[in-house]
Amino acid sequence: MALLHHYSTPLARAVRPPPPTRVRPYSTTIALASAKPSSTRPSQSQQQPQVLLGLSEKELQDLALNLGQQSFRGKQLYHLIYKRKVKEIQDFIQLPKAFRNDLEESGWKVGRSPIYQTVTAADGTVKLLLKLEDNRLIETVGIPVEDDGSSVRLTACVSSQVGCPLRCSFCATGKGGFARNLRRHEIVEQVLAIEEVFNRRVTNVVFMGMGEPMLNLKAVLEAHHCLNKDVQIGQRMMTISTVGVPNTIKKLASHKLQSTLAVSLHAPNQKLRESIVPSAKAYPLSALMRDCREYVRETNRRISFEYALLAGINDSVDHAVELAELLHEWGHGYHVNLIPFNPIEGSEYRRPYRKAVQAFADALESSKITVSVRQTRGLDANAACGQLRNSFQKTPLVTDPDHLESELPNTDLAVTC
Ligand code: SAH
Repeated sequence: MALLHHYSTPLARAVRPPPPTRVRPYSTTIALASAKPSSTRPSQSQQQPQVLLGLSEKELQDLALNLGQQSFRGKQLYHLIYKRKVKEIQDFIQLPKAFRNDLEESGWKVGRSPIYQTVTAADGTVKLLLKLEDNRLIETVGIPVEDDGSSVRLTACVSSQVGCPLRCSFCATGKGGFARNLRRHEIVEQVLAIEEVFNRRVTNVVFMGMGEPMLNLKAVLEAHHCLNKDVQIGQRMMTISTVGVPNTIKKLASHKLQSTLAVSLHAPNQKLRESIVPSAKAYPLSALMRDCREYVRETNRRISFEYALLAGINDSVDHAVELAELLHEWGHGYHVNLIPFNPIEGSEYRRPYRKAVQAFADALESSKITVSVRQTRGLDANAACGQLRNSFQKTPLVTDPDHLESELPNTDLAVTC
């Protein structure tokens, strides 16, 4: 399968440029790349299509005005994209044909990718592969959960990058390599794709799919904003998960989101953590824990620590006791989410027995740490991050170094990776 094409054909140049960049009140740092006139955009985005998905109602109104329409046409666009979830401009049949043609001739697209593969597990979990503009594949998972007889949650687990450069030793995504960051609309569209497949609203979003959200923080925050304001998912219903990237937790704290921060810890001490998470060398556990403590102080939000349990490696009761001590040392009110290892191809790690998982959880609880054990969902649907994508995209992802450099923040970690 030829899945590694780079962008080669720049889209038709805009006849009339879209409105100038506007900064949303939500964040002082988020600029709206897709709304910038193409002449002022950086070279990388010059090759990228201009997409409607991800724009606010006001921006769509400005776009309509720019194309010689009245502003209510922008409201219609908003409704068609976010409420009716129409995927192609020519299917906006409520709009005049001339306006639809104008949009297309100006290089606009809705920004929805085709679903390349759907795998449904016996428990109802659905894993999708979306095929992006450059033919790359990303995973998105829809997880339905019955809370009690009455309410039903539908969680979308979204990817933030194509692959991941951090290579945590137990993670299938890292083994598949890294290609590029996702753009804002490529994150948002994953949620819409899950809604389409399940034919109902997504209630929760977790940034726990492929990639490291903190290495693509700008697009992740833009997507978060759009999911909150336009797709109408409550901030408290969203979780951003990170293994830790220097200087980014502080940055995230400054946005004062009401969402949950999850930090993937996987070990109670630096030595063991480095052996499981190579990027921990560039961001020592003490620095990570200090940043977490500051995050809680600044945001008043709880942090949830994720801990993948690997049999015989980090799953003993002694490890649990050490973990509790670490968490007590650096704050209070922390929650631990235990994830029994999800076996992946070619890995020597094993999943611990249920008894060991329970003993680990009990040891944490008796040290007054609240804990939950994540149910493994959809084991028969290549449940671990990146597994399904890897089974379709056999060639490891590569990226040209210039591209990588321009997309990664300037941190020691980025250089190390
Ligand atoms: N890069 C981010 C988000 C992606 S992974 C992060 O590391 O947090 C989301 C969670 O799934 C992480 O806690 C990760 O450690 C865990 N995970 C990935 N592969 C796994 C596997 N095979 N078994 C168990 N947990 C896994």
